[in-house]
Amino acid sequence: MATIHPSVDFRSDTVTWPTPAMVEAMATAELGDDVYGEDPTVNELETLAATLLGKEAGLFVTSGTQGNLIAALTHAQRGDEAILGEDAHTFCWEAGGIAVLGGITTRPLPTDSRGRMAIDQIKAAIRVDNPHLPHSRLILLENSSGGNNGAAIEPEYFAAIGTLAQAHQLKVHLDGARLFNAVTALGVDPTAITAHVDSVSVCLSKGLCAPVGSLLVGSEAFIHQARRHRKLLGGGMRQAGGLAAAGIIALKTMTQRLQTDHDNAQALAQGLATIPGIAIDPAVVETNMVFFDLAEGVAISPEDLIKALKVEYGLHIGGYGDSRRDRCANRTLRAVTHYWIEPPQVERLISALRTILTRP
Ligand SMILES: *Cc1c(COP(=O)(O)O)cnc(C)c1O
Repeated sequence: MATIHPSVDFRSDTVTWPTPAMVEAMATAELGDDVYGEDPTVNELETLAATLLGKEAGLFVTSGTQGNLIAALTHAQRGDEAILGEDAHTFCWEAGGIAVLGGITTRPLPTDSRGRMAIDQIKAAIRVDNPHLPHSRLILLENSSGGNNGAAIEPEYFAAIGTLAQAHQLKVHLDGARLFNAVTALGVDPTAITAHVDSVSVCLSKGLCAPVGSLLVGSEAFIHQARRHRKLLGGGMRQAGGLAAAGIIALKTMTQRLQTDHDNAQALAQGLATIPGIAIDPAVVETNMVFFDLAEGVAISPEDLIKALKVEYGLHIGGYGDSRRDRCANRTLRAVTHYWIEPPQVERLISALRTILTRP
């Protein structure tokens, strides 16, 4: 398997290829049939994730989307309602799965510039018991907040929501696709946040570089039921230990190096802020995601800028078209740093953007 990343790709941290250590571990992993619960490497990964996140049990799932969907199916029944941010990944970018497959209605609430719903608005959205109304069951949270510059939301917010949820017998699921980025930025142990929620999903395949997979963690009883839902969704994998071996390295070692990505993102944001034609406030960059806009009056469109970077410089960045209008991304352009991006490539992107935006 090739391990050299083929291009300089800032579109996302999902583009990360496995590291050389992962490739080695994948080739030599002990295997078994995981649907029978007999893959020792998957079992080790699930236990490791549960331990790191302070929960009783874990489940290896195919993707972050599947982890969130299984969590919702396990916590809620048809006709139940989930309260979530209007820019939450689960609301915007998961094909409406919880409604399509779970019959779960969504109650999207506005969020602040760091992705937080107001506690009093969540409280006001909790329904009374009345046969006309759906039944409030679940609060879905996200950290870091992908739709809000990757903001790292502090433990106190989760503590406040945990208290509210308990008072109203609601369940709380945390979409922690980039939770390790958030806790790196905050300088806290993951359990400072996860202690306040019932279940958590984390992606192995983003900045942690594993090729495939996410982990869902929660109580023993929750994971027992979640395992059934994973099977229902076709997510039962057999000799999955090869993938899990990469996941173990992701959780043990790749979680420890994310500050490097954050430093590179901050350097990128500061560089972009010096370019006439780019609108960005580097202070909002807390993790590895750099969202920006073109300033008023810039002649080139975002689409043409993305194309020029790709064709002329071999640099890939992400575009969100006009999705800003429906609040699923807070800017039109995005560059994400990760393991395969180093400072010289950050400099190349800054200088290419400066050249394109200042040419006559
Ligand atoms: C990427 C992402 C997901 C979904 O993960 P996939 O593995 O791409 O399905 C869910 N939530 C957030 C916040 C994400 O960034």
